[in-house]
Amino acid sequence: MLPVLAVIGRPNVGKSTLVNRILGHREAVVEDTPGVTRDRVFYEANWAGRDFMLVDTGGWEDKVEGIAYRVAEQAELAIGLADAVMFVVDANVGITHTDEQLVKVLRRSQKPVLLVANKVDDQRGELEAAALWNLGLGEPHPVSALHGRGSGDVLDRILEIL
Ligand code: GDP
Ligand code: MG
Repeated sequence: MLPVLAVIGRPNVGKSTLVNRILGHREAVVEDTPGVTRDRVFYEANWAGRDFMLVDTGGWEDKVEGIAYRVAEQAELAIGLADAVMFVVDANVGITHTDEQLVKVLRRSQKPVLLVANKVDDQRGELEAAALWNLGLGEPHPVSALHGRGSGDVLDRILEIL
């Protein structure tokens, strides 16, 4: 059995884009409209000679009412079957209520967590990324899933926690 890494985060933070970046090709569905990814999709990934499974999450409906609850519920399922979790936050938006709900789910799970600050497309974004220390999950790792900035670093960290 390969180690399993679940990718969680609220809709539209760039989870599927990051999954594609890690896979090295477009396989996970990326959409400008939140809620397109099916509930849980498994992919086989490889980095530095190590194989692991990636679980992309999504699939909830984007109704404003109760969205935090549904995201947390989906995340809980994915975290349950994972060995480690990559928690993706949109550094440009900053910490939202849904992110805070997810932190609670992550704490309960006691699984190793890699905090990823996505959409850091340039140097200026580093400051916003640093604000994510406030989540209390340790160091935020800045990345641009879209352009690849910082993705090698994130992959190295993944291997450390898996
Ligand atoms: P998901 O709902 O979390 O899976 O998010 P998606 O991967 O579907 O991405 C949602 C939107 O954010 C799409 O329009 C992406 O192109 C955009 N996006 C994802 N990563 C980045 C990034 O690093 N920088 C910028 N500027 N946009 C991004
Ligand atoms: Mg998605």
